[in-house]
Amino acid sequence: MKIVSTVEEVRRQVEEWRQQGLTIGLVPTMGYLHEGHASLIDRSVSENDRTVVSDFVNPMQFGPTEDLQTYPRDLAHDAALVEAHGGDLIFHPEPAEMYHEGFSSFVDMTVLTEELCGLSRPVHFRGVCTVVTKLFNIVQPDTAYFGKKDAQQLAVIRHMVDDLNMNLRIVGCPIVREEDGLAKSSRNTYLSPEERQAALVLSQAIRLGSDMVRQGTTECAAVIQAMSDHIAAQPLARIDYVKIVDAATMQPIPVIDRPALCAIAVYIGKTRLIDNFFTEDV
Ligand code: AMP
Repeated sequence: MKIVSTVEEVRRQVEEWRQQGLTIGLVPTMGYLHEGHASLIDRSVSENDRTVVSDFVNPMQFGPTEDLQTYPRDLAHDAALVEAHGGDLIFHPEPAEMYHEGFSSFVDMTVLTEELCGLSRPVHFRGVCTVVTKLFNIVQPDTAYFGKKDAQQLAVIRHMVDDLNMNLRIVGCPIVREEDGLAKSSRNTYLSPEERQAALVLSQAIRLGSDMVRQGTTECAAVIQAMSDHIAAQPLARIDYVKIVDAATMQPIPVIDRPALCAIAVYIGKTRLIDNFFTEDV
């Protein structure tokens, strides 16, 4: 397993693999890797000859008041995890390697990015689309792997690949959770012990909502109300949104009459956490 920090080094390695006729999987991450990331790496390793993991806290996808400075970082830990799961290359660039002076090109998207997290994080998806496009161009993978944990991001990437005729396959992987249900996230490290306990309202609300859908409730308002009431009963929790949207367009729907995504974002203290379920998975 190799760690490189420049675009040129990635290109050289990828070129060598291509000449050998090998297939390449890409797992884009912001590092501080956990079992959620590991599940993406495992999937890539099982489906490709070589797996590249990018490990880059992308400044462009953070708003001015967000946690760019405090976002956890630990390259030695990440390297051990990637190696243990059979990854072949970590791309760990400095921000200046990705955004040279005078950088002024962006990949932007309307509609899908104007709902859910896009409302409270207005610059987020522009940063995501731009960095993911750059990573696709640098690595030129056959397949790229994303978690359903970031369901809107997955929908946005699929849409971008389709809109812009990008020549690769996108795979969405299931949410990996802690034993008590909390979706694994690098941001869980921000939580105090009391907040960590309070954060269980997210996965509890997801279970509540998915049970209702499984049992046949199709009225979105009823599902949203039950989930919101459950979260509101936790004093440390503050709801950003609880919504049900069309799984492809991310636009709110009144009735679950097509593949839908139920997504929530909740502040636990100062930490903003997300969770979700796809109605097709219940
Ligand atoms: P991040 O490092 O948070 O940007 O995440 C990198 C990739 O890992 C994204 O595609 C995430 O959706 C995915 N991911 C993060 N947490 C989880 C999880 N708990 N289960 C599955 N995938 C995850």
